[in-house]
Amino acid sequence: VTSPRAIAEPSACRHCDLPCHGHARQWTQAAGLHPWTAPTDQQILARMQARRAARTTPTAIT
Ligand SMILES: [Zn+2]
Repeated sequence: VTSPRAIAEPSACRHCDLPCHGHARQWTQAAGLHPWTAPTDQQILARMQARRAARTTPTAIT
């Protein structure tokens, strides 16, 4: 990971932002121990927009 706040893949887990591959079982305070879970359409859209924004703004937002 190169940036302190990496943007999750659009298809990353709904609960913990990890991609499907290599997820296995993860624990979060909100979801507890869980397998990879498909993100909501809203999450996918938000992540795609965040990735696009990150690409088009090379300098840090102040
Ligand atoms: Zn997860």
